[in-house]
Amino acid sequence: MTEVIKVSTPQHTCAVNVTPQVRDVVRKSGVSEGLCLIYVPHTTACVFINEGADPDVVKDILYMLEKLVPWSDSGYDHAEGNSAAHIRSSIIGNSRIVPLSNGDLILGTWESIFLAEFDGPRQRKVVVKVIKED
Ligand code: ZN
Repeated sequence: MTEVIKVSTPQHTCAVNVTPQVRDVVRKSGVSEGLCLIYVPHTTACVFINEGADPDVVKDILYMLEKLVPWSDSGYDHAEGNSAAHIRSSIIGNSRIVPLSNGDLILGTWESIFLAEFDGPRQRKVVVKVIKED
């Protein structure tokens, strides 16, 4: 079963918690044991799993990514001007796999799934594929 979640990212750089929507897809699938693939089909957005309880954690991740991969750098060649967004997304990666048990995602107590936006605001897609264990 595959579903596409649509997300409107509110800012140029931000992370949107998509855990509730992913969880809904898993529940609707009826799959109890298996895997959930979360895939972001974009080159300037990506997906990561980290703390969702304290919003300062995500804020700090975005802050440090800006320092590590600055938006402006005279060495960038890409004419669109958003090389930093491509690089940050490449570093983080555009998919995650979460195991399923008893029809739900196995996430740690503090973990959430985030769509990371680096060149918004935009309409983004998150592809969720639920794979049943034999
Ligand atoms: Zn570009």
